Amino acid sequence: MKGGEEEQTGVFRKEIAELISKGDMRRLLEKSAELHGHICPYSAYGVKAGYIAMRELGIENTGMEEVVAIVETNNCFSDGIQLVTGCTFGNNGLIFRDYGKTAVTVARRDGTAIRIALKPGFDESIMEKYPEASALFEKIVARREEATEEEHMRMRQLYTEMGFELLEVPEDEMFIIERKKIKVPDYAPIFTSERCSFCGEKVMASRIKERDGKPACIPCANADYYEMNGAGIKEVGGENG
Ligand SMILES: [Zn+2]
Ligand SMILES: [Zn+2]
Repeated sequence: MKGGEEEQTGVFRKEIAELISKGDMRRLLEKSAELHGHICPYSAYGVKAGYIAMRELGIENTGMEEVVAIVETNNCFSDGIQLVTGCTFGNNGLIFRDYGKTAVTVARRDGTAIRIALKPGFDESIMEKYPEASALFEKIVARREEATEEEHMRMRQLYTEMGFELLEVPEDEMFIIERKKIKVPDYAPIFTSERCSFCGEKVMASRIKERDGKPACIPCANADYYEMNGAGIKEVGGENG
């Protein structure tokens, strides 16, 4: 494969780049479901916001931090963003600011950026427009009540329909879109690794703690750490970990 097409930059996201240039948000939404597991209103918002950002900034992403997406929420929205922008948790292109807002700022390295936020009231208007889906969401997701297999299927079906329909809503009805210049966060530092003296596993040097005067990993040192989970970013005490 040396020198072949596979070594050219961007080739692995070629299909996605083509869908962006064609404006094929439906197919992008389907592809986002490969990552997200289902289609829903918030993944559709994420796909649409990601698409607008990539179109307006005119960029492609090879996962080398040439594009960064600063997401302000860790709900379904961010999976649409990850798929379409190619900024992910693993390639350090995804930066999570735990504000709890359905919004994203996508930026090029030179600081040219666009912030896209869901308009206040838009979500409520959608819930009024789709009362059956809202009732099922309340029951199955919000209250975690037992539901029949038919109800689960119906919710998935309605969410899929809503997701596709939302792609058709004019951009300025759904989002507040703001062009800006930002200071892009630095490239992710490359850390050397050290070995924990207790469990023997390798650890990024920046995460090494100390126990009995020896280098130790966080669990072996029983140290506090940060965890990102469904509740956001939380500091967790070592003893409870
Ligand atoms: Zn979802
Ligand atoms: Zn250890």
